Formats: sequence, structure tokens, C-alpha cells
Amino acid sequence: MNSFSWVFIIALAASVMLRLWLANRHTGHVRRNRDSVPESFTGRVSQDEHRKAADYTITNTRTGMLALVYDSLLLLGWTLGGGLELLDSSWRSAALGPVLTGTLAILSAMVLMTLLDLPFSIYHTFVTEQRFGFNRSTPALFISDLLKQGVLLALIGGPLIALALWIMDASGGLWWLYVWLVWMTFTLVMFWAWPTVIAPLFNKFSPLEDEALQQRIQALMDKCGFRSNGIFVMDGSKRSGHGNAYFTGFGNNKRIVFFDTLLESLEPAEIEAVLAHELGHFRLRHIQKRLLSTMALSFAALALLGWLAGEAWFYQGLGISQPSAWMALLLFIMVLPVFTFFLQPLLSLLSRKHEFEADAYAVQQSSGTDLVQALVKMYRENASTLTPDPLYSAYHDSHPPAPVRIEHIYANIKA
Ligand SMILES: [Zn+2]
Repeated sequence: MNSFSWVFIIALAASVMLRLWLANRHTGHVRRNRDSVPESFTGRVSQDEHRKAADYTITNTRTGMLALVYDSLLLLGWTLGGGLELLDSSWRSAALGPVLTGTLAILSAMVLMTLLDLPFSIYHTFVTEQRFGFNRSTPALFISDLLKQGVLLALIGGPLIALALWIMDASGGLWWLYVWLVWMTFTLVMFWAWPTVIAPLFNKFSPLEDEALQQRIQALMDKCGFRSNGIFVMDGSKRSGHGNAYFTGFGNNKRIVFFDTLLESLEPAEIEAVLAHELGHFRLRHIQKRLLSTMALSFAALALLGWLAGEAWFYQGLGISQPSAWMALLLFIMVLPVFTFFLQPLLSLLSRKHEFEADAYAVQQSSGTDLVQALVKMYRENASTLTPDPLYSAYHDSHPPAPVRIEHIYANIKA
């Protein structure tokens, strides 16, 4: 324990208390509004659907609070409680050389953390989602997903960690700059390869077959000057009843993906409006902006790590007696979110700004009323609350609260 231990403990306690306070406000606000559908949704969302969304939100928020306390205690156990110290000394005693020792220490810590979080992910899928009628997954599918993730971690994560550790050891004071370059290259390759290499391991993607809809979508894409590698339908219903649509990849490997669950419930005009919103993110360069800010943030983070890794108090303050490149990396990854949590409102604000802009674009290129129809259906079918606590939502939400968002779309239609 040193004074940095106290900085860490205080930041952790402050972030946990802030989160719990916000979550508590949120459940209170949702409960108070449980019996009254907001005015702009009357006739479109029934009383029962509104109550279901409230119950679903409250259940998820409460489980989230429990998971937060559990994870924070685990983090204390890993650091000040001596968990990582024990793991580190066990791998060190095998005398495998720094890069292999470090890689195995980091990978085993990641596997243990995933296993320790399993009770919550199992509860979420097979109790909460089941109860609200969203779960379509089976224990066999759940286990096979977990095993696939483990294999990917070993095959892709292992070599990447080994490379980073080797650079840290071998390249002098500017190692963090080289690690950043490797990390950025990796991010870009993954972003590019995701739709064709990784995602198909977990889901089936088939080309959109509905010809009328396809023509409609093609016409919109031509109008917006967007060229993609195809429109695909993903079998999201394999795991969950929740529906969505997204863009993936970049350069010559862009794809538009619709969940089959979404296609089932939306009319062609509504699908077009949703797509126009997604195209808005692309045309307004939101995707590039997000990528650039990720690059800038990770540059700052690695520069910070470059400094911290050389300071003995950083390790001692977090319960590690022997400084090493791998422990610097692992501690940093585990502890950084405690501090960056305080930046969350800023990131949420930027994200909501992009959502408003993409909505405005969709109103211009397609139909605003169809977009509203589609959103209402998506809120209803995903049991999203229409009445989040304003402060909770401002802190956490990447999307504007439903009534605010719809009000903005109507304002855009009139303008
Ligand atoms: Zn969006």
C-alpha cells in the first residue's frame, strides 16, 4: 500500500457510488412512470408493453448494480488483495522467459476474469432474457460461443500480446509508440476483416433475398452515394429476439447487416428509413471521426502507460511487488476504466449529437414519419424504456431518450 493505492481506492469508491446513485435514480424514475405511456406514444405503445419495458429496465438495472459491486470487489481482490501477485509468481516460477511468462500471465488472467463473470452472463441470458421472452439461445450454443471466444483469444490475442511484450522489452524508451502502431494496425485489420472473417464464426449471413426491398435499398444507396459489398441478413434470432441493423467493415469491404428479427417486424418503407439513418452515420463521417478519436485516445493512454511502467509506485500501489512489462499492461487495462468512467458523459454527449445528425440526414433522404414508425416498433419490441431518468440517460446513453429523439425528428420534418 502507498499513496497511489489510496488514489485508486478513492477513485473506485467514487465511481461505484456515482454509478449506484444514477442507477437508483433511474429505476425510481422508470417505476414512477410505469403506469403512464408518454403522450407522444399513446396509441402506439400499449399500457402492457409500457409496463413490460419498465419491468425489463428495472430488472436489468438492478442486476447491473449487483454486478458492479461484485466486479469492484473482484478488482480489489485482484490488485490489493494479492490475486495478480499470486498469478504472477506462479508463472514466474515456471521460468519460461519474459515474453512467454507475460503472455501466459495475461491470457490466464483474462480467462479467469471471464469465468468469474460467468454467473452474471448466464443469469442474464437464461433468467432475465428468458423471463421477458427474448432468449433464443440454448446452453449448448452458449458453451460453444464461449469456447470459440477462447480459441480466438488464444489464436489472435496470444500472438498480439506476445508481440507487444517483446516490443516493450526490446525497443527502449519509445516502446509505447511502437506498441501503439501495432495496436492501430491490428484495429484497422480487424475492422476490415470482421464482417467476412470473424462475424461468420458466430452467425450466418445470407444475402437479402426480397427483390423489391433490395431495389428500394439500392436506390437509396445510389442517391446517398454509398457503395457497399452487399446487403446481408443475419440470423440474430439464433440467440435473441432483440432486433437491430448495422454497418460493418470499411474500404472495399463494407456491408449492411439487418437482423432477421428486425426485417420480420418492419415494413419496407421503415427499413429504408432505418438504413437512411445508418447511411447518415457514414456520409457525415461519424465512423471515421470515431475511429480517429479512438486512435488519439489510445495514443494518450499508451503514452501514459509508457511513463507508468517505469514507476515502482505504480506496481506497489496496486499490489504487485515485482515490476514487469506484462504486469504494467495488465494493471493498466484493469485499472484504467475506473478513471476513464468520469469521461463517460462527454462520450455519451458526442454520440447523441451524432444520432441527432444521422436522424436529420434520414429525414432529408428518406421519410421522417417512417423513421418514427420504425423507432417506435424497435422500442416496443426491444422493451426499451421510454422514460429513462434524465440524469442517468445524460451520463450513460449513446442514444437520446425516445421522446426527445422523436420530437427532434418531427422538428426536422417541419423544418
Ligand atoms: Zn445511429
